[in-house]
Amino acid sequence: MILLNPGPANTTPTVKQAMTVADICPREADFGDLLLQVRDDLVRVVQGEDTHTAVLFCGSGTAAVEAAIASAVAPTGRLLVIENGAYGTRMAAIAAAYGIAHDRLDYGVGTYPDLQRLETQLAGQRYSHVAVVHHETSTGMLNPIEHIADRSHAHGAKVIVDAMSSYAGLPLDIRSCGADLLISSSNKCIQGMAGISFVICSRELLDCLAPIPGRSYYLNMLQQHRYLEEQRQMQFTPPVQVVYALSQALKEFFAEGQTARTKRYFANFETLDHGMRALGFRRLLPEGQLSRILTAYLEPSHPNYSFSAFHDDLYRQGFTIYPGKGAAERTFRLANMGDLTPADMQAFLTAVQRTVTELGLQPLYHDRDRQGPDGH
Ligand SMILES: *Cc1c(COP(=O)(O)O)cnc(C)c1O
Repeated sequence: MILLNPGPANTTPTVKQAMTVADICPREADFGDLLLQVRDDLVRVVQGEDTHTAVLFCGSGTAAVEAAIASAVAPTGRLLVIENGAYGTRMAAIAAAYGIAHDRLDYGVGTYPDLQRLETQLAGQRYSHVAVVHHETSTGMLNPIEHIADRSHAHGAKVIVDAMSSYAGLPLDIRSCGADLLISSSNKCIQGMAGISFVICSRELLDCLAPIPGRSYYLNMLQQHRYLEEQRQMQFTPPVQVVYALSQALKEFFAEGQTARTKRYFANFETLDHGMRALGFRRLLPEGQLSRILTAYLEPSHPNYSFSAFHDDLYRQGFTIYPGKGAAERTFRLANMGDLTPADMQAFLTAVQRTVTELGLQPLYHDRDRQGPDGH
């Protein structure tokens, strides 16, 4: 199955095979060595090896987002959440769940952040932290985190970046991208299995964290970090085989190299997007805002179209597509992350063409004159 959903992404056969290992107790020293190697490699992906570390959690990506917010924003602090999609909204929901003082700077789903509005917000209220999503996977928009971090730092706020679906896909340098806490998981562009998520931050920042009563017991960065440092074990049972797969995925990442991985993803995007537009599909966002890791396309307005019929016909041909999330206009989403090549994208386009014909979806859109952004 070719997965065009935004993670868990397709993995290589060698990553899958890495899970088949002899049984081992995760409290053995050998497993501790593996954990520390994985942790250090995760930091090396964003070039923070001399200054930064990663705090690992068992759980999907949201676990690490929750850990970062719950561990970093002190009771005396205040969080500003930048929202322009479902994952920004989720960060605000996490802050609300913990009763953390926060404000939402809500641009609207799929609207590019206006930095002047951010500046006004930062000038009008004192924030200890600003939270932003790098690649807003609900629309495929790449947010300008460097600029946002720059303005936030100028006002004395630390920056929490959800880089779930950009980490290892796009080049990120932890020392220059502006993230004080950077979050991702094992099953997106790093191409491992689902089950581990992590927060990368400086050792200096970790040293300044203090326990906060009333926050999460399990998703506690300080406690989790200390335990691994001191005991060379995870505090709670890790998904053993997922860690082996992640270790292999990291080896394969470094063998491919960040530059080549990004280049492959972008080549996937070019093939996919060119073909989709040639078939008449329109994008939600203009070219300049695209992550080129996931793209939202407007759903056809043809009466024969339904997402489930479209999805099921493609699924029968070996492809999984993903529904839209939150945008005012109805969309479906195609990701091009994972162990995929332009040839896979070409095979998908052939399948889409067949589905469009079989379901009788032409013309895709009724308002033939109306074009998507930048004419597509
Ligand atoms: C995938 C994703 C998450 C985490 O989702 P989980 O289902 O918890 O893994 C969070 N933020 C973004 C931007 C994502 O793409």
